[in-house]
Amino acid sequence: MDLGIAGKWALVCGASRGLGFGCAAALVQEGVNVLVVARRPDVLAEAAKELRELAQDYRGTTPQVLALAADVTSEYGRQQVFAQHDSFDILVTNAGGPPVGDFRDWDRDMWMQAVDANMLTPIALIRATIDGMAERGFGRIINITSSAVKAPIDILGLSNGARSGLTGFVAGVARNPELASRNVTLNNLLPGKFDTDRLANTLAGMASKSGNSEDDVRAAQQAVIPAQRFGSPAEFGAVCAFLCSQQAGYLTGQNILLDGGAYPGTF
Ligand code: NAD
Repeated sequence: MDLGIAGKWALVCGASRGLGFGCAAALVQEGVNVLVVARRPDVLAEAAKELRELAQDYRGTTPQVLALAADVTSEYGRQQVFAQHDSFDILVTNAGGPPVGDFRDWDRDMWMQAVDANMLTPIALIRATIDGMAERGFGRIINITSSAVKAPIDILGLSNGARSGLTGFVAGVARNPELASRNVTLNNLLPGKFDTDRLANTLAGMASKSGNSEDDVRAAQQAVIPAQRFGSPAEFGAVCAFLCSQQAGYLTGQNILLDGGAYPGTF
């Protein structure tokens, strides 16, 4: 299916690895020009190289791949983004998730960091891009959040809290008739367990804490997912690209869970 978005411009955050990279790759394969942002220049340069190779394979006009090493959670980082390219049709918000722990240990600074990265940064990026999208009559905003928004996990309290704030904000903006009637949609993608560096680090931490091998921890985690495996960044990116498509113009204000069937509820 042609998603009808070739030639559009996308800003994809946290795109040097993992789910953000999966989204950038899927968009480039649809002929979308991308500005990919992540903090580490070396990892980002490798990612940009891979994306440019994918761009060469696109059957139409080769999409552009711009890369910027910046921290999107800082005001300065966001200024650098818009200095590089100032108008976007597609926005994929993403940054590292907050640490796990016991809520008794989290002070105001830790909460502010989590709220900054996982709520206020996406809101700032939405604010900076959405009116231009509405003026041009096309906009797709995807926030990478977490299955923890739907099924909270106690040790992920910083994530549960901060991302729920973003989810409530997005639900309201998505239903603003001035935006929805101008073909601007906002949706959240909720990853369950995906095979990324972040998940590998979590599994390594669980292994060292329990004394079990990493392979055993991985197998035990996969066994409780009906799909019996973790998702891949490419699968995640494909759903993201569909949400960015022309065809998905009537889909807005939704929280889409991608978890191999792990969430046990009917809805
Ligand atoms: P990852 O650690 O593999 O990749 C994160 C990417 O974001 C990297 O490119 C990193 O450089 C970039 N990044 C982090 N902070 C940034 C910042 N401040 N500015 C710019 N770039 C930044 O992580 P992932 O597994 O791809 O996860 C992406 C998001 O999805 C995270 O918020 C994570 O908490 C959430 N999530 C992931 C899973 C999973 O199973 N992988 C599950 C639930 C939620």
